[in-house]
Amino acid sequence: MRRARRAKAVMWYLMVPGVLLEILFLLLGKQNIVLLLIGGGLMMGGLIIWAVFWRCPDCGKHLGRTTVEYCPYCGKSLR
Ligand SMILES: [Zn+2]
Repeated sequence: MRRARRAKAVMWYLMVPGVLLEILFLLLGKQNIVLLLIGGGLMMGGLIIWAVFWRCPDCGKHLGRTTVEYCPYCGKSLR
């Protein structure tokens, strides 16, 4: 499960700055297109990592937005 947890951490490291850059883009009057592109790229990267790696190590099903201790599909511990 270590890889899935690491993937979720990496996702947050991409998504949070991505969202902040998008907010900055909006606050700065939507003129700095570079902020929009970088922010959007970070968010897309975070989503892709989440979709690809946030899976149960046992049955391989995507864990969705779950934060539970056990896989909702096969019951395997996610610790
Ligand atoms: Zn499972």
